[in-house]
Amino acid sequence: MKPPSPTEVKSTCCYCGVGCGVIIETDGAGITGVRGDPDHPANFGKLCSKGSTLHLTQRPALRNSRLLHPELRTARNVPRARTTWDDALDYSVMRFRKIIEEHGPDAVAFYISGQMLTEDYYVFNKLAKGLIGTNNIDSNSRLCMSSAVAGYKQTLGADAPPCSYEDIEEAQCLFIAGSNTAYAHPILYRRIEAAKASRPEMRVIVVDPRKTETAREADLHLAILPGTDVALFNGMLHVLLWEDLIDRNFITAHTEGFEALKASVREFTPKAVAEICGISEADLVLAAQWFGESAATLSLYCQGLNQSTSGTAKNAALINLHLATGQIGRPGAGPFSLTGQPNAMGGREVGGMANLLSGHRDLSNAEHRAQVARHWGVEAVPALPGKTAVELFEGLRTKAIHAVWIACTNPAQSMPYQAAVHEALRNAEFVVVQEAYRNTETTWYADVLLPAASWGEKEGTVTNSERRISRVRAAVPAPGKARPDWEIARDFAKKLEARLRPGKPSLFAYDSTESVWMEHRESTRGRDLDITGLTYAKLEAGPQQWPFLPGQAQGKARLYEDGRFATPTGKARFVVTPYRPVAEAVDAHYPFRLTTGRLRDQWHGMTRTGTVAQLFNHAPEPAIGMHPQDLDRRGFAAGDLLRLESRRGNVYVMAAADDSLRLGQVYLPMHWGARFLGGRDIYGVNSLTVPAFDKDSKQPELKHAAVRITRAELPWRLAVFSHAHFGSAASLLDSLTPLLHEFAFASVVLFGREEEGVLLRLADKLAPSLQAIEDIDRRFGLAQSDVLRYDDARRGVGRRVNILHGKLNGVRLSGDSAQLAAEAWLKEWLICAEPVSAIRRFLLAPTAVAPAGFVSAGKVVCSCLNVTDSQITSALVQITGSAAQRVQTLQSTLRCGTNCGSCLPEVRRMVESVSAEVAFS
Ligand code: SF4
Repeated sequence: MKPPSPTEVKSTCCYCGVGCGVIIETDGAGITGVRGDPDHPANFGKLCSKGSTLHLTQRPALRNSRLLHPELRTARNVPRARTTWDDALDYSVMRFRKIIEEHGPDAVAFYISGQMLTEDYYVFNKLAKGLIGTNNIDSNSRLCMSSAVAGYKQTLGADAPPCSYEDIEEAQCLFIAGSNTAYAHPILYRRIEAAKASRPEMRVIVVDPRKTETAREADLHLAILPGTDVALFNGMLHVLLWEDLIDRNFITAHTEGFEALKASVREFTPKAVAEICGISEADLVLAAQWFGESAATLSLYCQGLNQSTSGTAKNAALINLHLATGQIGRPGAGPFSLTGQPNAMGGREVGGMANLLSGHRDLSNAEHRAQVARHWGVEAVPALPGKTAVELFEGLRTKAIHAVWIACTNPAQSMPYQAAVHEALRNAEFVVVQEAYRNTETTWYADVLLPAASWGEKEGTVTNSERRISRVRAAVPAPGKARPDWEIARDFAKKLEARLRPGKPSLFAYDSTESVWMEHRESTRGRDLDITGLTYAKLEAGPQQWPFLPGQAQGKARLYEDGRFATPTGKARFVVTPYRPVAEAVDAHYPFRLTTGRLRDQWHGMTRTGTVAQLFNHAPEPAIGMHPQDLDRRGFAAGDLLRLESRRGNVYVMAAADDSLRLGQVYLPMHWGARFLGGRDIYGVNSLTVPAFDKDSKQPELKHAAVRITRAELPWRLAVFSHAHFGSAASLLDSLTPLLHEFAFASVVLFGREEEGVLLRLADKLAPSLQAIEDIDRRFGLAQSDVLRYDDARRGVGRRVNILHGKLNGVRLSGDSAQLAAEAWLKEWLICAEPVSAIRRFLLAPTAVAPAGFVSAGKVVCSCLNVTDSQITSALVQITGSAAQRVQTLQSTLRCGTNCGSCLPEVRRMVESVSAEVAFS
C-alpha cells in the first residue's frame, strides 16, 4: 500500500457509522482520488462502493450543485438574492431575536444532523440550550438511533455500546437483527465474511422480514412479520428459561429485575410466538439454543429495531437476552448497536438532542442541568424538554414554533408523513437552512440559505459505532464562500449574544475546532465517556475509543468486563417488554405491509450519492418490490407503473418482482425523495410513512406502513434520456426539479459511467401541450433542427432522436405506454455507444422494436468494475468447482468484487442459484 504523500490527507468517510479511515488524494486545488486508510482499525484500507467514490462527489463539474454564497429573501414572494455573510447572519439574528422577544425562546428551534462533526454539534447545542434558553434542538439521529440510546440507558444505565468490531472475530454466534449489514455497513460485513470463512462453525442468525443479501447468507433466517421482534426476543427468553440456558450466577451477581421479566415471558410460548411472528416453532427454538449455548454471542442491530413504535422495547428485549445468558463484557459477546450515520455517536456525546445534555447527561436531571450550566458559564439550562423531530415539525405546522434553523440535513426528504413536513416548512415564519448543496427538498423553503463546507473541506472529529473517535481533516479549501458548520453557528451565536447579554464575555470564544473539542472534553470528566486523557495531538497519531482516562495509552475496547454497569446500584436492569403490534395495521382498505430500507450504493436522501451516475447502476430507478405471486394475483407485471397509497399520501412507482418478500409485503428503498420521485403533491417515499413514534425514544416508525396498490391510471407517458453536455448530468437533473411537480407522476435519475446521462419519466391522465413537450426536448438537446423526428398527431405519439458522431446521444419517446416499449434497448444502445447505422431504419418506424439479435447487457452487479448479471451468468456456464472456487474464478476473469467487495454477496448468490439449477436439472 502506497504511504501518504504531501498531497494526501488522512480523514474519515462521511457516510455510515462504520467510520472507515480514508486517504484523500489532492492536486492542491481539488480532490482527485480517495482510498482506504490501511492504518485505520475500522477498515484496514478497505472502502465500500460509496466510500470509494467519495472523490467523484467533489468533481469540479459538480460545482454548480454546491451552494457557494449566502442567500437571503426578506419576503416569501420574492426570490432569494446573494448576500454577504454579515448581512445573512445579522438578518437571522434580527428575526430570531424578534420572535424570541414576542413569543419566548421556545418559539424557535434547531434541527441538526448526525452528519455533523462533534465540534459542530457542541456549538449548536450550547447556542440553543445555553444562550437562547430553549431545548428545542433535535437531530436527524432521532430517526436513526434514539431507540438504541433509550434501550441502553434503560438496561445498562448508559448510552454506551459495550463492544468493538474485533468482537466479530471472537464471536461464536452472530445474531443480526433488523440490519441488512451487507448493504448498510458493507465494510463491517467484509469482516463478517472473513470471520465466517476462517471459522465456518461460527453460526449466523439473521432476523429480518425480508430475505436480504445478509439473510440469504445466514445459517438461520427468521423472516418475522414486521414489528414482531419483541415477541420473538421474549419467546427466545422463554425457551432459554425452559432449556436452562440462562446464566444464573451472572443474573444474581450483576443484574436486577429478573423475576418480573421471567413472569412476563411465561405467555410467550414457542407456539404463541411462532404464530405472532409468522415463523416455525422449530426455528425459534433453534435460534434460542444457538444464542444460549454459544460460548460468545454478539448481536448486531440497526434500524429494523430502532425505527419502530416499539423501538426501545425491541432494544431492551434483545439486551435482556444478553443479560440472561451472561453474553456481555466478554470477547465476542454483547449487544452491539450499529449506528447509521457517521457521527450519531458524537451527537449523543455532546447531548445534541432535545432530551440530552453534554457528556451523556440527562435533561430531566436537575443536578445534570446545573453541572452543564456551570460548565457553560450560564445561569441555567431550561428544564422543559425540547420538541423531538416529529413534534418539532408538528410545532412548526401548527405555528407553536415560529422559526427553525436546519443544518446539514434534509427533513423535507427524510421525515415521515412528508405532506405535513412540507406544510410545516411553508407555515414557518422564518427558515434558515445551512447546507453544502444548492438543491435539496429542504432548501426550497429557506428564507436564509447558508453555504456550508463539506467532506474533505472541514476539520473536526467523529465517533463511530464502536466508540472510536477519528479525526476528520480538510484536504482542500471550501468552495466559494462556504464555511465550516461550527464557525457558522459560532458567528451567529456571537452576534446574538451581543444582543441578549451585552457587555458579558463571549460564551463562544472559539478560534479552532480544537478549542471547541477541549471544552467538550472537559464536560466528559467523571462521566462514562470520560476522554480527559485524550488530546487532539493523540488523535493525530490515530483514532481512539472512549473512555480514555488520563495516564492511559489507549481507550477501552470493551465495557462492563468487571460486571459493573452504569446504574446507581452497579447492576444491569432487566426490563419487562410487552409486545405491541405496529402502529398501523393492514386492513381491507390498505392490505399491503410496506417496509423501507437501504440500497447498496445510495446514501440517505442522495444529496451526495445522487450526483454520481455510477452509484445508480445497481438500482437504476425507484421501484416497488412485490412478491411475484402478488404481482400475478393483482394482474400486474414487472415494469408496470403502480399507484401506492397510504392514509397520508401517495406515490407512483414501477413494479419489480422481489422474491425476498413474503406475500402481502412490499418494499421501497428509503432514498427516493421528491427530487427523484415526484409528481403533483408527491414528496417521495416518505409521502407514505407513519409519524407515530416510540413513547420513550420518540423515534418514528419509518419501517412500516399499511398501503393499497392499484394500477396507475395515467395513460399518457413520456420517457426522455440523454447524455448531459460537459459532464453536467447532476446540473441537468437539478434543473428539472420544478418540472417534477407539473405532472401526476415524475421520476428522474442519472445513468452511465464515464459519460453520464439523465433519464426523466413522466405520466399523466392527459397529454400536456406541445409547448410543454418542446420545453422538455430543449432541456435534453432534442429541439435542434438536425434531430430526427417522428410524430403521429392522430395517435398523440412522438419520438425524437439525437445522433452525435454516429452514436445515439438522446431520445424522447411519448404517447401511450406502448410507445415506451423501445426505451430499454435504446437506452442500452446509447450507453454502450453502439453505432447508430445498424438501427437507423428502426428509429423512426411506427414502433421502434429492438433489432433482431439484440441482447441486453443486463443489470450491473459490480458497480466498481461495471460487471453485469448477464456477464456473470454467461461466465458461470463455463466454470466448474466448488462455490468458493467459482467465485474466485469469476473474480480473476471478470474482476467483479475485486475492488470494494460490496457486490460479493450478490455474486455468491448468483453462483449458488446456478448450482441449484444444475442440481435440479
Ligand atoms: Fe464509508 Fe462504506 Fe466505510 Fe460506511 S462502510 S464508512 S459508507 S466506506
